[in-house]
Amino acid sequence: MIAIERGVEMVLELATKMARPDRMPVESVPLTESMHRILREDVTADSDSPRFDKAIRDGFAVRFEGLAEVPSELRIIGESRAGHSASDDTNVTPDTCCEIMTGAAMPAGANAVVMVEHTERLAPDRVRILRSVRKGDGLLRQGVEMREGDRLLPSGKRIVLADIGTLASVGKARIAVSKRPRVAILATGDELVEVPEIPDSGHIRNSNSYSLHAQVTEAGAEPVMMGIARDNLADLREKIRLGLEHDILLVSGGVSMGKYDFVEDVFAEFNVKVLFDQVAMKPGKPTVFGHREDTFVFGLPGNPVSTLVAFHMFVRPLILSLLKADGSGSTDLEAQLAVATKRDPYRTAVVPALLRFDGRGYRIQTAPWKGSSDLAGLSRANALVVIPQGDGMIDAGEWVRFIAIE
Ligand code: AMP
Ligand code: MG
Repeated sequence: MIAIERGVEMVLELATKMARPDRMPVESVPLTESMHRILREDVTADSDSPRFDKAIRDGFAVRFEGLAEVPSELRIIGESRAGHSASDDTNVTPDTCCEIMTGAAMPAGANAVVMVEHTERLAPDRVRILRSVRKGDGLLRQGVEMREGDRLLPSGKRIVLADIGTLASVGKARIAVSKRPRVAILATGDELVEVPEIPDSGHIRNSNSYSLHAQVTEAGAEPVMMGIARDNLADLREKIRLGLEHDILLVSGGVSMGKYDFVEDVFAEFNVKVLFDQVAMKPGKPTVFGHREDTFVFGLPGNPVSTLVAFHMFVRPLILSLLKADGSGSTDLEAQLAVATKRDPYRTAVVPALLRFDGRGYRIQTAPWKGSSDLAGLSRANALVVIPQGDGMIDAGEWVRFIAIE
């Protein structure tokens, strides 16, 4: 049995050893398909932003020097609205102003914007200004957010929500990203039926394939659903053979000590070189990792929570490594334990947890759940908490790692 950290190291070492320049080629995708993909180009600003001195309030563009004493009356000499700048001959002086809207370009001469709330309209071309302003109030100067040529997003960065608008704003309709590794997902078990079916007694629905599908997608890889293999050598052989044609094969179930757990036997028949098959992790002890030539192979424990945890700990880092992602995709964070928590002497626990803000900071505690098949318990949780193996308790207030699950 190996420690989780050692397992992750072995996975990443193998990924590095088997890395080839052509393994994960670059492809171009439309912006709408770029979420969670890994950038393979440096993205730079194609112009200053703002592109022009821009009003960030609705009101009147003024020269602040004209408002040393307020109230003060100004003559309105023009209008600048978003998308329609003031006419070229509009030149604001200390006793004139230009009506202006948020997002519009500042007219010549003006150096501040008075909010409309601080004015009183007297006539179509006259306004009373009720409050003075300082130079630069109510506007953003050209280029304060970004300068043309600035590097905004480096190659290797995982594209997250915050980046989508940035990419759009600098004109990236298509983006160079790592091609997604193809990940075959194979469920095993005579007891499994597909989701639309109604299981009879002794049967359950295949849920693992769908959790894994979501996890693979989130990690930036391409899930390939391989269905269900039954617990017999012939069916497992056929489906594992097809699965081995992908970059990564995930088999869930059939890797523990049961009489019909044949997955490791079939891996051996296909000359899968197994690097580890037991991890000091709870749940998820019977996690198998190896490779056949270029294909990375995982046997994930069948219970739904175990599968999800094992994927997060071992498969996700592998995918990010194959994609040449930098470290920015980490979802590992720390919070303080809300209640004293018992450790397991032999295995590190990675279990459903409740993370909440108590007014001063984030506190976390294990969620009530009925073990590694309890999907409803998992749904009531919003995190997985990591309780390192060891003796006794971890006191309330101690810092522990957690993984946000969204
Ligand atoms: P196994 O490792 O095959 O013995 O499976 C352990 C437990 O996980 C058993 O209770 C299985 O019924 C359950 N299980 C295995 N595969 C799946 C799956 N794809 N979806 C939901 N539960 C599963
Ligand atoms: Mg099984």
